[in-house]
Amino acid sequence: MNVATAPDGVGISRRVLTGWGRTAPSACDVATVRSAEEIDQVLADAAEAGRSVVARGLARSYGDAAQCAGGIVVDTTAFDTVLEADLGTGLVRVGAGTSLDALMRAFVPRGWFVPVSPGTRYVTVGGAIASDIHGKNHHRDGSFCSHVTRLSLATPSGRVEVSPDDDADLFWATAGGMGLTGIVVDATLQMIPVQTASLRVDTERATNLDDCIARMTARDAEYRYSVAWIDCLARGSKMGRAVLTRGDHAGLEDVAPAGSEEALRFNPVVRAQVPVTPPSGLLNSVTVAAFNELWFRKAPWLRTGELQSIATFFHPLDGVGAWNRLYGPRGFVQYQFVVPFGAEDTLRDVVTQLSDRRMASFVTVLKRFGPGNPGPLSFPVEGWTLAFDLPVGPAALGPLLDRLDETVAGAGGRVYLAKDARLRPELLAAMYPRLPEWRATRNRVDPAGVFVSDLSRRLGFVSSPAPRLAPRRTRARAKTARAATQMNGSG
Ligand SMILES: Cc1cc2nc3c(=O)[nH]c(=O)nc-3n(C[C@H](O)[C@H](O)[C@H](O)COP(=O)(O)OP(=O)(O)OC[C@H]3O[C@@H](n4cnc5c(N)ncnc54)[C@H](O)[C@@H]3O)c2cc1C
Repeated sequence: MNVATAPDGVGISRRVLTGWGRTAPSACDVATVRSAEEIDQVLADAAEAGRSVVARGLARSYGDAAQCAGGIVVDTTAFDTVLEADLGTGLVRVGAGTSLDALMRAFVPRGWFVPVSPGTRYVTVGGAIASDIHGKNHHRDGSFCSHVTRLSLATPSGRVEVSPDDDADLFWATAGGMGLTGIVVDATLQMIPVQTASLRVDTERATNLDDCIARMTARDAEYRYSVAWIDCLARGSKMGRAVLTRGDHAGLEDVAPAGSEEALRFNPVVRAQVPVTPPSGLLNSVTVAAFNELWFRKAPWLRTGELQSIATFFHPLDGVGAWNRLYGPRGFVQYQFVVPFGAEDTLRDVVTQLSDRRMASFVTVLKRFGPGNPGPLSFPVEGWTLAFDLPVGPAALGPLLDRLDETVAGAGGRVYLAKDARLRPELLAAMYPRLPEWRATRNRVDPAGVFVSDLSRRLGFVSSPAPRLAPRRTRARAKTARAATQMNGSG
């Protein structure tokens, strides 16, 4: 274990890390920070010692974005402090390790909801900014960083405050910059007002993909939130059949005559936990086909005005702890891409390929994106985004996904880096044509290339600086001993 760069008081331990897909493990020195000062301290120390660094939140990115083999990974999850909150305007400033779950628990009862929620509450604000995450409301509200008014960024040359008006280039390079422009220390967000903790939801079935596309195109604009679950195994005239759910925050008039305190109650629970070693082969084309059939048939042809909780509508998978283990020890990949409107043939082609090859994805979702924001690496662009999960194992998987990459890039689309674990580097520039602009900003704040992740190495994200050498400092020996003691103590 190399712990020579452990700063005073910050625990560091060598751990093997993966993303949510549990593929591509790497051994990293994890520094757990509890305050802004500790983040600055770890970074200054690492920079001085010539070590690579990347931040990590709740590790809900699927691939290798939040790990750095042989480098220092700054675990921010213990810096989860609400620093300021204005309950009149919904403006909150929080430590970057604060989870959206914690934000909802603290602020929904006070009438404020997060501006963008992904399919899980267990992501940090820092991770949400670094991936510029999107939700079911992208067509209406855009992505996460469009609601960040200011952030504090730790860079090798010191801490900087940035906003869309103050060093806009650095702000937007950080939005979707996958942690490679610096460590977000804290951020100020504009929350959205809600009267209740419920959603008023309309559900309908679409007979196939074209029907689904037509329904979403015609009426998504009427709803704040919209998503379609797609049966990726259906064939023939049913190919791409879907269950479409769309909704809005319920008003006080929509809920039973309960007081507003009761209407804003938010206390979701984890109902089940997947064991460390679940029975193998649970998710295969037979079980997924059976599940899809059941799910589709269970959905009403049309139901309007159903009240659903925040957890049911936004985060159904959070009800099962560690569900990623269901895919077995080899893990799984999530493939998410976006193609512009007009490239519907590409969407059809991808769903056809999944169905023809019996590639059984347990969760396949389609959303419509509105216009993207100014972030050069921000994933969303106006168009269709499809995401699906596939277990690692079948020999056909790699070649299929490689082919899909070409198809998506050829249609002017891109894959989502927060989900990626296997893209080939030569396609990155084609999918993210503003990469040179992003690199120029990044090189301005991190000319020595301190911020490195397995993802950035794999994709050649940043031009390689001189190799980062092992530390050669006089205090190294003493710190090694101190940190080793800490590691033994903490396991
Ligand atoms: C079930 C599930 C559903 C999901 N649904 C969606 C969805 O609907 N929409 C969507 O957009 N995403 C979705 N995601 C992906 C998830 O929102 C992103 O990967 C998010 O970045 C994860 O946040 P995290 O705190 O876990 O970050 P991590 O996974 O730990 O890190 C992700 C990236 O953020 C960087 N990072 C983390 N903290 C900081 C910091 N303080 N400063 C700088 N960089 C930092 C890391 O270096 C890394 O590059 C989903 C993931 C899961 C598991």
